[in-house]
Amino acid sequence: MLFDSLTDYHIHTPLCAHATGWPVEFAERALQLGFKEIGFADHNPMPDYFDDWRMSLAELPRYLDAVAEARAKFPQLTIRLGLECDYLPGKEAWIEKLASMAEWDFLIGSVHYLPEGWEVDHPKYIGRHAGEVEPIWESYWKTYGQCIRSGLFDFVAHPDLPKKFGYRPEGDLRRFYEPAIAALAECKGAFEINTAGMRKECRELYPSFQFVELARKAGIPVLINSDAHAVEELGAGFDQAVALARSAGYTETGRVHRRKLSFAPLPEPSK
Ligand code: ZN
Ligand code: FE
Ligand code: FE
Ligand code: ZN
Repeated sequence: MLFDSLTDYHIHTPLCAHATGWPVEFAERALQLGFKEIGFADHNPMPDYFDDWRMSLAELPRYLDAVAEARAKFPQLTIRLGLECDYLPGKEAWIEKLASMAEWDFLIGSVHYLPEGWEVDHPKYIGRHAGEVEPIWESYWKTYGQCIRSGLFDFVAHPDLPKKFGYRPEGDLRRFYEPAIAALAECKGAFEINTAGMRKECRELYPSFQFVELARKAGIPVLINSDAHAVEELGAGFDQAVALARSAGYTETGRVHRRKLSFAPLPEPSK
């Protein structure tokens, strides 16, 4: 894979309590793979104790220090600073506050929590998916549209997340995808192809080809990210992700710096 013309902007750290590998370790691995640019996007802090899979607000300085340490140790690598932010309807003001707390290069908008109050991707709720695929997908995609329309984020994460455990509704899924694409087009949003799905039960990139093709036709910018929670996952599945983007007609991917999007050519998939 030609990592030198790609970026990986969705990388976690041990501060979220379910990832291994500190920024210096990811940076070292990135250089070994040939990346010139990566970015960290750990799960955002919340104002109070909220759940057990994110840094606390008191730990935010440690996160900033850990990224600064990697930048200082590996000046030859461009390292962007980001956060993966849970979008919660009604809690937009918290994201605005977070946005002013550091010199972020990007904020990623994610929907893990459904408004019904549970995490659609959490293994402890796997049993809920079986009989309830349709309402779960409706709720997820409605929230996803709100996340896009909030305008708080530089791009949105892992579309299609509810397929993680392999449950998908019957029929043509464009009924879920089209409103999200319309929201992205209207709000000038961008999305990621996230390779973590390849490592989950669904064994598929997030999102599906259909979503990517609709997005390309609507002129929506795409980024390619691994969602690495361990050093070995950095850049994982990028061959497949590049092939997916190319098959949908994309020729460029997005770069982000200080919350501004620019573009770089997408490499040819390696044979
Ligand atoms: Zn995570
Ligand atoms: Fe996520
Ligand atoms: Fe993530
Ligand atoms: Zn994620």
